[in-house]
Amino acid sequence: MNQNAINISGLKKIYKGGTVALKEVNLTIQNGDFFALLGANGAGKTTIIGILTGIVLKTEGNVEIFGIDIEKDHNAAKKMIGVVPQEFNFNFFEKVEDIVIQQAGYFGIKRKEARAKAEPILKILELWDKKDTVAMKLSGGMKRRLMIARALIHEPKLLILDEPTAGVDVELRHGMWDYLKKLNQQGVTILLTTHYIEEAEALCNNVAIIKEGEIVKSAPIKTLTKSLEEHTYVVELNEGASGLTLENFHVTQVDETTIEVIIKKSQSINALIKALDAAKVTVSELSPKGNKLEHLFLNLVNK
Ligand code: ATP
Repeated sequence: MNQNAINISGLKKIYKGGTVALKEVNLTIQNGDFFALLGANGAGKTTIIGILTGIVLKTEGNVEIFGIDIEKDHNAAKKMIGVVPQEFNFNFFEKVEDIVIQQAGYFGIKRKEARAKAEPILKILELWDKKDTVAMKLSGGMKRRLMIARALIHEPKLLILDEPTAGVDVELRHGMWDYLKKLNQQGVTILLTTHYIEEAEALCNNVAIIKEGEIVKSAPIKTLTKSLEEHTYVVELNEGASGLTLENFHVTQVDETTIEVIIKKSQSINALIKALDAAKVTVSELSPKGNKLEHLFLNLVNK
């Protein structure tokens, strides 16, 4: 299918009481993409997801999911989407498998078929041995995975996750990342919102940054990080770096033998090596400091 997964144009949302959550949002997400929507608290991310999934009514604008207008054919659009909201919203007294099977019922999937579909999903999300456990007895990470399992039971072409790894420990987060990557490779388009910049950097091809109800940037992650004006490099030295200065470079001492150096777009790594040579220090390791996207994000959000 060549259609875009999501086409949003001129989208506005004014909540009752007058809060303008979305001023004007235009956004295209291609079929098969892994896309991150980044933004500070209150920027409008959840409102966009709410509109896509039919929970929030738009004030103005057009929204299409795989070419289906969400207003004109709400049910057909809804079938295309699996959504994992921020808050756990299943019945805590029900068993894991029942929660997933019941969801299938909303999409007209018969119980027997739903049971067969649920098994591989629960297995891959490592919940199969908990299938008869009531949801309230699951850990936070398991509850989060149950939300994902439930969202996938009707085999949606688009999976929307609102902060999927909030409150999930690092190990589990990486496991979930692997699973989401696999899903995406199988052809599921994924849109996620996140506060974890490294999550977007690890998973997504494209990013949009939303600020006060407007998309202020939308580009491939690689383009965004490339556009950074300066890069920080971590330099490990063989000897003490105390009081070290380098001509034309800003040096920050991290510990006895480690410094950080900022290289501006107009400068080169060669020039840094020359400056280090001139200072007569030996470099044992030179590596770019991570969190490039974080810098960029903070720059954009605080502009
Ligand atoms: P967060 O990262 O904190 O989840 P967000 O980017 O998802 O934030 P939204 O939840 O979309 O932001 O909120 C955007 C704006 O709309 C905020 O000013 C918020 O207070 C307001 N808002 C959200 N939901 C409602 C509502 N039901 N009624 C009135 N105002 C709302």
